[in-house]
Amino acid sequence: MSDIRSLLLIDDNPRHAEAFRAALHTATHGPFKAHWARTLSQGLERLREGVWAIVANLYLPDSQGLDTFNKLLQSAPRVPILVLAGAEDEDIAAKAMQDGAKDYLLEGHIDTYSFARAIRSVAERDVAEEALFTEKERARVTLNSIGDAVVNADVLGNITSLNAVAEKMTGWTCDDASGKQLDEVFRIIDDSNRTALPNPLESEVRGNNTDGLTSNCILIRRDGKESDIEKRAAPIYDRLGLIAGTVIAFHDVSASKTMSLEMSHLTHHDPLTDLPNRLLLKDRLSQAIEAARRNDTKVAVLFLDLDGFKHINDSLGHAIGDKLLRSVALRLVGGVRSSDTVGRQGGDEFVVVLADIKHAADAGSAARGVLTALAASFPFDPHDLRITASIGLSMYPEDGDDAETMMKNADTAMYQAKVNGPNNYQFFKKFMNVRAIERQSVEADLHRALERHEFILNYQPKVNLGTGEIAGGEALIRWVHPDRGLVSPDQFIPIAEDCGLILPIGHWVLTEACRQAREWIDSGLRIVPVAVNVSSLELRSEGFLEGLRAILKNSRLDPCHLDLELTETALMRHAGPTVALLKDLKSIGVQLSLDDFGTGYSSLRYLKWIPIDTLKIDQSFVQSIATDPGDATLVSTMISMAKGLKKRVVGEGVEIEEQMTFLQALGCDEAQGYYFSKPVAAAQFAKLLEKRPAPFFIPYFPTLPFPIDKPARISRTAKAH
Ligand code: C2E
Ligand code: MG
Ligand code: MG
Repeated sequence: MSDIRSLLLIDDNPRHAEAFRAALHTATHGPFKAHWARTLSQGLERLREGVWAIVANLYLPDSQGLDTFNKLLQSAPRVPILVLAGAEDEDIAAKAMQDGAKDYLLEGHIDTYSFARAIRSVAERDVAEEALFTEKERARVTLNSIGDAVVNADVLGNITSLNAVAEKMTGWTCDDASGKQLDEVFRIIDDSNRTALPNPLESEVRGNNTDGLTSNCILIRRDGKESDIEKRAAPIYDRLGLIAGTVIAFHDVSASKTMSLEMSHLTHHDPLTDLPNRLLLKDRLSQAIEAARRNDTKVAVLFLDLDGFKHINDSLGHAIGDKLLRSVALRLVGGVRSSDTVGRQGGDEFVVVLADIKHAADAGSAARGVLTALAASFPFDPHDLRITASIGLSMYPEDGDDAETMMKNADTAMYQAKVNGPNNYQFFKKFMNVRAIERQSVEADLHRALERHEFILNYQPKVNLGTGEIAGGEALIRWVHPDRGLVSPDQFIPIAEDCGLILPIGHWVLTEACRQAREWIDSGLRIVPVAVNVSSLELRSEGFLEGLRAILKNSRLDPCHLDLELTETALMRHAGPTVALLKDLKSIGVQLSLDDFGTGYSSLRYLKWIPIDTLKIDQSFVQSIATDPGDATLVSTMISMAKGLKKRVVGEGVEIEEQMTFLQALGCDEAQGYYFSKPVAAAQFAKLLEKRPAPFFIPYFPTLPFPIDKPARISRTAKAH
């Protein structure tokens, strides 16, 4: 050290002062500067200027014994003090040592050498203490600045220190905790069974090992609050290698634990309804099957698909669709036992796993229960929605003994339930798999049907109810299958839509219908518009407009002789772009009809501003007008509404005379149905066109067969708004 260190001798003995000076001169830990005070008061005076160490005789003219030491210690608590005493006063010197003196020299041994030795030892100790202090300070600052909590305890388990984070996490201050037992301050329990965990010191003493990272731990604070922690503990050894204590480091993992729980919830649940998703459902089903195998019971899978959900979603929008799905989920959950699992497969498909049931009949009644639960309407202002479901059931062990087979077979049974009509359930039967395979083979054949020219068009007349003349013809596709014979569009159009083949097929229908219309015109027949059904997918496909223009151009057919029939669903999907599309179609000059009117969820206000020329009332209403006064009222309302909107109106599916007269009486413009003619081949349709008036026409019958109610509701399924 290069600084000059001041040493103060307080002693009235000049011999001592001489020896002191000499000792400093020779001392190796210098350089030193000696100061000499003869009395305590002089010494205290000198202390004000600062000294590095004091050598003081306890017996001074103005102060005697331990009192001298105490006064010095009080004035300079941090300065090392060395005391001198008479040979007979060793016990007082020793007492001064106990109180903090660094060393003492006794009269008779005070000389240059002993002074030098004592000063050296103070200097050496000073360096060591300095180093120790720095080290401790570094440890203290480190401990308080790391994010982890750190607790120290001695070998008896008494707390020796807590850093700031540990104070915060345990709720104990370091002062309060010091000397307390580890178990009291650091209370930890197992998070799975909530039993007390042994404190790390115990295992260290027992096994002499370092406690690895443990994360299944809950720390209970002093105030009883709990937090998930991850802890690590390590023993402290003394110089002999014996355990002297322990250091426990820990941190709060509550947030990350919550997050990982949330992540796991997300991967296993459907975000819309919060029901178990496919993954979790499969897992639960496998567990239910395992349990049933052990207990010799049964498991049922109910595969549920909402009927007509797509219509609601397309016409009322996704927000309403989502709301409905959430409400359906709630009803399903409310309708089963807590041991059963309700999950969402995706879209409008739900699955219910009935665990541990005795008879298949129980599954049947559960399915009926689900249908009943869904039967009440869903009041979503301003709509009062009704929805039904089709349910397929499969049973363990009859229909499969693993989750995958059970789900597949319940799905197959659900398809059958759909075919059988809405709002019913079907148990899986082996033959159903044959149907599923058949569907695949239809799809395979459909791919070849166009190039093999297996499609034909039939035409069904629309009749003017005022004049009895044919007012138009609807082109209806037929598939002449080499093995199956005539396949109706209901059997293959949905499959063609699923696999995308509807686009080339639709293109062919338009081309053929336009060609045929031109041929009839060229052969001098009376000109009537030909109607072509266009599916939603075609309408929305890229290049539909250009394709249509090209077809019209090639066939040289005046666009006003082509009538495109679009369904409500096709139109209501996206209000904006559809209107634009319809306007484009109208600008080409074709006519537009709204097919199957009344079965969708069209907003009536919307009807006012879409450029549609004709409304075709769905045959389901027409067919019951003569028997169901409610439907009669609906049809009458639809007709007056169409008139109000200045649209032509066509009644579909007229099968008997009463239906026709009814429509006539209500002022319906045109009608179509088996009563007039079934769809017929082109040549036959040409023959019908030649006759005038049409052979089937019966003039207007002025009195209605039965009275009808006043118009009330407009749509069968959705409220007017
Ligand atoms: P749609 O457009 O509503 O056609 C009327 C359907 O009702 C036709 O069935 C027709 O034969 C049937 N029908 C007509 N009068 C009566 C009647 O008095 N009683 C009964 N019960 N039914 C009658 P079809 O030909 O089987 O066609 C069914 C549906 O398939 C059509 O319904 C249409 O949506 C679709 N479709 C037919 N051809 C095509 C086509 O070329 N392209 C597209 N995308 N769809 C088509
Ligand atoms: Mg049609
Ligand atoms: Mg129709």
